[in-house]
Amino acid sequence: MERIINIAIDGPSGSGKSTLASALAKRYGLIYIDTGALYRTVGLYIQRKNILSTDTEAIIAALDGIDITMRLIDGKGVVFLDGEPVGDEIRTPKSSMYASDVSRIPEVRAYLLDLQRDIAKKNSTVMDGRDIGTVILPNADVKLFLTAGVEERARRRTLELKEKQPDITFEEVLADMTTRDKNDSGRKIAPAVPAEDAIFLDNGSLTIEETVEKAAEIIDGVL
Ligand code: C5P
Repeated sequence: MERIINIAIDGPSGSGKSTLASALAKRYGLIYIDTGALYRTVGLYIQRKNILSTDTEAIIAALDGIDITMRLIDGKGVVFLDGEPVGDEIRTPKSSMYASDVSRIPEVRAYLLDLQRDIAKKNSTVMDGRDIGTVILPNADVKLFLTAGVEERARRRTLELKEKQPDITFEEVLADMTTRDKNDSGRKIAPAVPAEDAIFLDNGSLTIEETVEKAAEIIDGVL
C-alpha cells in the first residue's frame, strides 16, 4: 500500500490556510480537507433550527439529529448536510460567528473528531484548521502554523468577501476577525495554538506564490 502522508496547516482566520492548502494539495497530489467547513456546517444547521449560537444546551441536544458527512470529490472534501452539498451559505460573516461559537462546545468538537481522523487515516491529505497539529493529527508528517497580522488578514478577507457582498466594509471584517481570534485562541478546548513541533510561516509580506514556495521548501525538507 502507498504510504499515507498528512500535512497539517493551522493558524488564525484569514491567514491564507485554505489558499495554501489547496495549492499544496495539487502540488503533492493530496486531498484537501477544509475542517472549518465542518464547524460552519454545524453552525448552519443550528441557524436553520432557529437555535441561538450561544444556547449550548440546545446545540448539544440538536447534535443527535444532525447528519454531516464529507465526500471526497475532485481532490477535496465536500461537506454534505442532510445529504445535500453545502455551498456559499456557510461563508457569510454570520455563519463565521456561528461556527466560532459552536466550535467552543466540547460535544461539537467530539462529534467532528472521528470524521476528520478517519479521512486522514485512509487518505493522504493536507488538512487545514485550528487544532489539526495539536488534537486531530498529532502525528501529522508536517505541521505548519500560518500567521499574518490581523489587519492584513482582515484586508485580504474583505477583498474576498466583497466579490459576493459588495457592501461589506474593512472595519466590519476587522471587528469580526478580532472577536473570532479571541474566541478561537482563548477557548478552553482545542484552542487555536501552534503544536510544539509546528513550523511557523508568517506570510504577512509574502505573495501567495511565495507562501506556497516557502511551505514546499519546508515540506520537502521534512518528507
Ligand atoms: O477556518 P474557518 O474560518 O472556516 O473556520 C470557521 C470557524 O471554525 C473558526 O473561527 C473556528 O472557530 C472553527 N474551527 C475550529 N477548528 C477547526 C477549524 C475551524 O474550531 N479545526
